[in-house]
Amino acid sequence: MGKVLVIGCGGVAGVAIQKCAQNSSVFNEICIASRTQSKCDALRQKLEGKTGAVITTAKVDADKVDELVALIGKVKPDIVLNLALPYQDLTIMEACLQTKVDYVDTANYECEDTNDPEWRAIYERRCKEKGFTAYFDYSWQWAYRERFEKAGITALLGTGFDPGVTSVFTAYALKHCFDEIHTIDILDCNGGDHGYPFATNFNPEINLREVSANGSYWENGHWVETEPMAIHRTYNFDGVGEKDMYLLHHEEIESLAQNIPGVKRIRFFMTFGQSYLTHMRCLENVGMLGTEPVEFEGHKIVPIQFLRRLLPDPASLGPRTVGKTNIGCIFTGVKGGKERHIYIYNVCDHQECYREVGSQAISYTTGVPAMIGTAMVMTGLWKRPGVFTVEEFDPDPYMEALNKWGLPWKIDENPVLVP
Ligand code: NDP
Repeated sequence: MGKVLVIGCGGVAGVAIQKCAQNSSVFNEICIASRTQSKCDALRQKLEGKTGAVITTAKVDADKVDELVALIGKVKPDIVLNLALPYQDLTIMEACLQTKVDYVDTANYECEDTNDPEWRAIYERRCKEKGFTAYFDYSWQWAYRERFEKAGITALLGTGFDPGVTSVFTAYALKHCFDEIHTIDILDCNGGDHGYPFATNFNPEINLREVSANGSYWENGHWVETEPMAIHRTYNFDGVGEKDMYLLHHEEIESLAQNIPGVKRIRFFMTFGQSYLTHMRCLENVGMLGTEPVEFEGHKIVPIQFLRRLLPDPASLGPRTVGKTNIGCIFTGVKGGKERHIYIYNVCDHQECYREVGSQAISYTTGVPAMIGTAMVMTGLWKRPGVFTVEEFDPDPYMEALNKWGLPWKIDENPVLVP
């Protein structure tokens, strides 16, 4: 039993907090802290009388280490669950280090101002050394390894669905199904329809940056980079049907390439409808995905942030989204000298999620694993000093928890492979 401090109160946090409240034998106290405290208060009210956990709220600017340190000092949590934006990862890790409290998140660090010359110099060096140009990578957070080890605290990085569950599926496949994994294809399919011509399922800024960037995959020990959306396949997904999917860079490829011995290729595909892609290309062509401030009638406006204002709030998509998601991994490799292929995946229904927690499946499939990962560290099952990604721990208790908390998984022993 213990106290969790959740930072952020958007789409994903809304689900994770409700799941922590359902799991009150582990989380008997929950403090919700975010930039807009009224959102935290509204969620607390929604949960009143429905949970054994004591819920409090607070206001915090998670860009400021001193505010975070003061909040952690006041709340005295056993663990901090960061569900703000990837921009805040380092300030929150820094505050956890100063106060010696365990840290959990769902997405790796990304710099908000990609024109900051200091950040840019490090970024450009990394692009050359590593061979991929995504704005995010693990180096910033892995740099905390020694300090977390010395402080005797755990940082668990990337416990959403992807990254998160997909890496736990990989650890499970390696433990139970293969002597050696040769290829991993991570397939993220959203067959949901929200009825808007264009909307993003999670934070638009993070989502659009990810999708409009170059693709890349890991092959034979190095990165292969492609133009955005250059590699296209179709796949027939259980529960959804046939969908177009495109190869993207994705953060778990970086950690899996290091942690899965002998892996030869790792790719990540996400499905997109033609309407989404046409809108995105158009927005990009007119400069609406820009991250550099532009002067407009005496105000400085960052185009992508302004766009975020105009687009539907992802948290509002719940009631209108119908259909299912199917996210999982296809593995090839060898077991007992024989070639083996398996597919581990979860199918999640948007409307079922809405009925349970009032949100669509994208927030649900991220919020549930965020709660599970936090519980793994808080109960001591996954507690080890240092900074880790989820595939570095025993997958079995996490896999059991997925079945228990709403994300049951299936194994297909003879899947169609992706060419
Ligand atoms: P939202 O934009 O819905 O929510 C973000 C929340 O963080 C908001 O409550 C926002 O406050 C708060 N916030 C932002 N900046 C600050 C700040 N400086 N100080 C305090 N609070 C702040 O995002 P999502 O819920 O969609 O995403 C949350 C996280 O989950 C992101 O890191 C995202 O990348 C990650 N994610 C991971 C996935 C995975 O599978 N691993 C999939 C989807 C998302 P306010 O209300 O004031 O705006």
